[in-house]
Amino acid sequence: MNDTFSIAIDGPAGAGKSTVAKALSRALDAMYLDTGAMYRAFGLAMLRMGVDIHDAAAVAAHAEKIDVSVDYVDGGQRIYIAGEDVTDAIRSPEVSEAASATSAVPEVRVHMVALQRRIAAGHDVVMDGRDIGTAVLPNATLKVFLTASAEERARRRCKELEEKGAPQPYEQVLSEIEARDYRDTHRAASPLRPAEDAVTVDTSDLDLEGAVQALMDLARQAGIRR
Ligand code: C5P
Repeated sequence: MNDTFSIAIDGPAGAGKSTVAKALSRALDAMYLDTGAMYRAFGLAMLRMGVDIHDAAAVAAHAEKIDVSVDYVDGGQRIYIAGEDVTDAIRSPEVSEAASATSAVPEVRVHMVALQRRIAAGHDVVMDGRDIGTAVLPNATLKVFLTASAEERARRRCKELEEKGAPQPYEQVLSEIEARDYRDTHRAASPLRPAEDAVTVDTSDLDLEGAVQALMDLARQAGIRR
């Protein structure tokens, strides 16, 4: 039995992974790693450099050259490209698209997975993404596939955008979510799917507290106690 534990949380965009993973990491006093932020930072770097995000060969040529790093400030994860804090800049719709397109390139994934393992090594960790249970941490103590219906995820996203003062029509948000789901589940390299030994938790009818409680129960059952 290892001294440290790891919890892999995978699932589609908008299922509540990052909110639940953050709450869980706090409750368990573990490191939280948002791997989506790393793919977003890479995508942003490609946009800034004027690389065609749909040209796999051009993107692959940069896979090892972009210096993505993370740090923790006041308990929150910050993300950097070559030392520049881009934590806020990676949250735009353009960067979501760029992350989705460039993360399908195998060379990018190989590099990011190695980086994610290095960052997490030796720590108790809660990691969220698309391929954590299947590729990054195949021996995770607990694997959760967190999901919710596309309609519910679109509703949550609309609410978030409205609260940020940047509302968008529901139909548009839903179709973007469906397009991203399609790309994430149909790419050849590490497509989004539950690991064979993952527990699926559907959050469509759960609020945040309910979802965190469900995962705390699973953690306890997996022998994780802090
Ligand atoms: O989770 P988030 O929406 O921030 O991720 C942005 C994009 O990065 C996703 O749409 C997905 O294509 C990609 N991603 C990935 N593997 C991960 C995390 C994110 O391919 N582990």
